[in-house]
Amino acid sequence: MSKITVAIDGYSSCGKSTLAKALAQKLNYNYIDTGAMYRAVTLYCLRNNIIVNSVVNLPMLLENLSAIQVSFVYNNITKSSEVFLNGEHVEKDIRTLEVANHVSKIASIKEVREKMVSLQREMGKHKGVIMDGRDIGTHVFPDAELKLFMTADNDVRAQRRLDELMSKGEHHTLDEVKHNIEKRDHDDTTRKESPLIQAKDAIVLDNTDLSKEEQLNYVVKLIDDFLLTKDTLVN
Ligand code: C5P
Repeated sequence: MSKITVAIDGYSSCGKSTLAKALAQKLNYNYIDTGAMYRAVTLYCLRNNIIVNSVVNLPMLLENLSAIQVSFVYNNITKSSEVFLNGEHVEKDIRTLEVANHVSKIASIKEVREKMVSLQREMGKHKGVIMDGRDIGTHVFPDAELKLFMTADNDVRAQRRLDELMSKGEHHTLDEVKHNIEKRDHDDTTRKESPLIQAKDAIVLDNTDLSKEEQLNYVVKLIDDFLLTKDTLVN
């Protein structure tokens, strides 16, 4: 059966990557977490004093950009692609609130986006890919066969992210986490370079009251229906 490109965009912490991972496993597609790529660049900046006191040293970042290598390696145990920064596995280090507090600033830089988008297009060129982020359906793969735009209630999103951080041993208040989510949404939707907007042909998925399984079944059906219609048109 032919494979398609699935673009999943949406607000912070609304379960894009959870859904994308489950879909990729179910359909045997490749999952690319583009947020992890921007987080890895941010981690590099924090570690190398390119971000000091929340200020980004842009000339220094541009000078270092060619030395920042972001890649994915499939982990057979977690059954998912995990992100590497210059050969180091950083999947855990990129999920801290400190990285989350700085990533939108780094992701708003044109040169950073150009580098990441070109890697994303290369990784997705053979289709059979589920890619989640903020600009996948609008900019990275505007011709994706299925585009989803995900959203959920702010309090529900904040609680989900807090639970995730706590499960990894990071302790914060609900307010801190909610503030981070709302600030990132604001920065991501108002920036000049590829802001987060809903693609005209995207299907909105509000998962406030949906279980993971309900979301997965809904999207699998959308894909099945798409492939069926396509095959019917071809034959
Ligand atoms: O998806 P995640 O929350 O890990 O993304 C982290 C940040 O990376 C987002 O808040 C956004 O600033 C940036 N991002 C982006 N474009 C993407 C994916 C993520 O600007 N395609």
